[in-house]
Amino acid sequence: MAELRDYPPPERWDDWRELDPQAWPGRAERAYTLVPTVCFNCESACGLLAYVDKETFEIRKLEGNPHHPGSRGRNCAKGPATINQIHDPERILHPLRRKGPRGSGEWERVSWDHVLDAFAERMRGAFAAGRPNDVMYFVGRPGEDGFADRFLETWGCDGHNSHTNVCSSGGRAGYGLWMGTDRPSPDYANAKFTLLISSHLEAGHYFNPHAQRIVEGQQSGGKLAVIDPRLSNTASMADYWLPTWPGTEAAVLLAIAKVLLDEDLIDREFIRRWVNWRTYLIHRAPGTEPSFENFLRELGQEYAQYTPEFAESESGVRASTVVDVAREIAAAAPAFCSHIWRAAAAGNLHGWQITRALWLLNVLTGSVGTVGGVSANAWHKFIPEPWRKPSANEQWNELNWPREYPLAHNEMSFLYPHFLLDGDRGFQAVLFTRVLNPIWTYPDGYTWLRALRDERAVALHGAMTPTWSETAWWADYVLPMGHGPERHDTHSYETHAGRWLGFRQPVRRVAMERAGQGVEFTYEANPGEVWEEGEFWIEVSWRADPDGSLGIRQYYESPYRPGEKIRLEEYYRWMFENSVPGLPEKAAAEGLDPLAYMRKYGVVEISRDDYGSHEQEIQDPGDTEIQGPEQTLTRRSAEVAHLPLTGRPDTVAAVVEGVPRRGFNTPSRKLELLQPELIEWGWPEMATPHYQRSHVHRSLIDHERGEYVLLPTYRLPTLIHSRSGNAKYLNELSHTHPLLICPEDAARIGLSTGDLVRVETEIGWFVIKALVTEGIRPGVVAASHHMGRWRLREDKGMERWSSALVDMSEEADAVSFRRIHGVSPWESSDPSSSRVWWSDAGVHQNITFPVHPDPISGMHCWHQKVRVRPARPEDRYADIYVDFARARRVYRKWLALARPASGELRRPIWLFRPVKPALGAYGLPDDRRSREAREALASAPSPLAFHALVDWSPAEVWGPLGSGPT
Ligand code: SF4
Repeated sequence: MAELRDYPPPERWDDWRELDPQAWPGRAERAYTLVPTVCFNCESACGLLAYVDKETFEIRKLEGNPHHPGSRGRNCAKGPATINQIHDPERILHPLRRKGPRGSGEWERVSWDHVLDAFAERMRGAFAAGRPNDVMYFVGRPGEDGFADRFLETWGCDGHNSHTNVCSSGGRAGYGLWMGTDRPSPDYANAKFTLLISSHLEAGHYFNPHAQRIVEGQQSGGKLAVIDPRLSNTASMADYWLPTWPGTEAAVLLAIAKVLLDEDLIDREFIRRWVNWRTYLIHRAPGTEPSFENFLRELGQEYAQYTPEFAESESGVRASTVVDVAREIAAAAPAFCSHIWRAAAAGNLHGWQITRALWLLNVLTGSVGTVGGVSANAWHKFIPEPWRKPSANEQWNELNWPREYPLAHNEMSFLYPHFLLDGDRGFQAVLFTRVLNPIWTYPDGYTWLRALRDERAVALHGAMTPTWSETAWWADYVLPMGHGPERHDTHSYETHAGRWLGFRQPVRRVAMERAGQGVEFTYEANPGEVWEEGEFWIEVSWRADPDGSLGIRQYYESPYRPGEKIRLEEYYRWMFENSVPGLPEKAAAEGLDPLAYMRKYGVVEISRDDYGSHEQEIQDPGDTEIQGPEQTLTRRSAEVAHLPLTGRPDTVAAVVEGVPRRGFNTPSRKLELLQPELIEWGWPEMATPHYQRSHVHRSLIDHERGEYVLLPTYRLPTLIHSRSGNAKYLNELSHTHPLLICPEDAARIGLSTGDLVRVETEIGWFVIKALVTEGIRPGVVAASHHMGRWRLREDKGMERWSSALVDMSEEADAVSFRRIHGVSPWESSDPSSSRVWWSDAGVHQNITFPVHPDPISGMHCWHQKVRVRPARPEDRYADIYVDFARARRVYRKWLALARPASGELRRPIWLFRPVKPALGAYGLPDDRRSREAREALASAPSPLAFHALVDWSPAEVWGPLGSGPT
């Protein structure tokens, strides 16, 4: 009989028995085969263990996989709730084609054969015509490493677009410009002091794997400080809560840096060895003797302006607290941990400089690559090479990488609908959106709706999605794809100071194979006709080049059966056998082949306790020479050497005291305190970490006119953007998101908890309920971005667990939404649906936000200047109004802040880019090196004046209080 224990041991996973809780009070035993897979409900990729019924192959529950080195058997609520997504009675089980015009809501079931042929034919047409960029793959949640990059390269197109710059480009750009690696890897569990700019404990990056280690650090005596205008769950657990005015975080961080410098609390040896201080002196103090002491003197002068008192006047955080935190950091160093991901870096104009300022604290205290410090993520991540890697494509896609944003960290994805509507940057013969719901998730969703509806802009749109979404409603085809436990892929993330490779797998398929049932394609084991993406890409690519004449087919042939189509299992088998260090040996030790090992455990640990990787000696650097002020070991045959403007040849190591060392991923192989590309590409004033006022600076907000800053960036730990829409457990837990407002502001406006308020943005407004709380700083209001799902038909187009039925009404240049009813019970095959007791679906606020592209990082600056006022008598909860013409005007206004590429290159070659093209694609065509562009660059406004350029008043837009459009 089954006994009570924490995790079943792996040797019994093939035959696990336990009592069926649903048979209670009876005692019925069930037999399971336990199959490891990986959660897909956020990017943390925690291990899951699926309990598959041995008789029916039904997935009965999902729990943690104790063998996963990142999550260690622990999951958040969203992991086990995967079971709801699988069994959702309203999930899409068959491919659908629209019958009427786009968005008319009439669908018919079609075969996968039809779908594959329809898309392959259009793709082949674009490829054969030499227009590969007419095909676009636009991904919301990738959840995998490498597969998509590879198929895009086999197609020869520059067609990768992603959600990243509505998510994390601000954080990434800041880290990337410092160390050439766009993510940090904090060693929270060993930190003596941790400083977070975000709510990582409950909702941050690598949420659960990081949260459990932050708690471990606290349990070992480490202290925690949180900078956040909102009292998040994390801030409530912290030793210090610093509720800054949004966008002033860099002033606080640089004041901390000044205290460290003034009180000589810095790690001189680390800075001397690893910071590009010689380059700093060349630019900041030309003619000065290049000595380290001169550098420290200049640095002290540069940051002298950031006194704790200045920080207090900008941020509202007491000067004495700034000093206290600085001394705590110094006492903890080098076990000082820090992290910023979304939060302030994603909210503000110049948010990426907040990241630069935070990392400066780790650099000054030598808390880099240390136990309890922060490493570069590249040291804790592993991406295996696939079989037969294609060469880089020769294309450049201006829909994704426009000339205006040469330093953007990721594709300018939220400008995509504006670019399509402009009509002069590209056209989409085929658009695949994958786990992407921009009409609801992105700012300015109505512009998305207009672009996706326009068949002159997008000829064929396939929405690849495991769930219904607002965006899928406007597609030509809805293509149901598997949830996490219904497909294969590999991934690896920097959850701690070690490396691992996870293997997501379709658990019913594996269970059936364990039972001796042959399965050729995963859709044979999935519910209905749900496919997995990997098999879809193989099939559609094969059909796009059936005779191999386009050079695509060769990449989809089996490494084991020459000339025949590869099976997805073979793709991973080859990878595990050939490019994962240590895996064949580990597998052999258990009498398994590498694929069988990964099928058994769902993960392999590659290394642990990886610290100080920058100090690794390079034993055989090849044909190199020492170049430049930082003594960088440089390849003599550097392919890029002939390209002017890079000024940064291909380097392999930093020579530190005569020894070649791995260093960082920058061209200098040092930490780039002074970033030369920012000077070269027109931003000299931004080349070192500094504080610049954001577009929501306090001076731009007039409370007497009802103006506030809206923070729309915070997450609820129980929801996952679009994908939690069909998870009943999660919607029962979280189904409302009031506007947080502090008592003093509520009194000024005349609001009490539960009152309806109208929140006016630059392009529209929404109506929401107030929650009066001390958990938000004065002058700021906040609402989580997870709510406000809607559908246009009662019984289709969105999950009824989470969405309201709305009436959408369009005028020539505006759209409004009015809720018909909220969530309500309905009859389905799941008895729970008739017992739904909640009714709120929240308010879709993002659609009322205009686009705000940061001119350097490309990040959308999410924070909004708004006016908050009591709702008008005619207002109803969840009303939305958006002025499309205004949205277009704001887009053009922010576009004018950009400083376009005007020389010979589109972008510095060394900068990170997903799916990097070949070098030749980087050249800016002659006709684009225009005099106008150079003049625009020269006359671009000073960044310090940006706040004036982006100033606007809700009163000017919507009229004074008490008036305004209805
Ligand atoms: S943190 Fe939660 S949602 Fe994210 S992967 Fe882990 S279990 Fe899934």
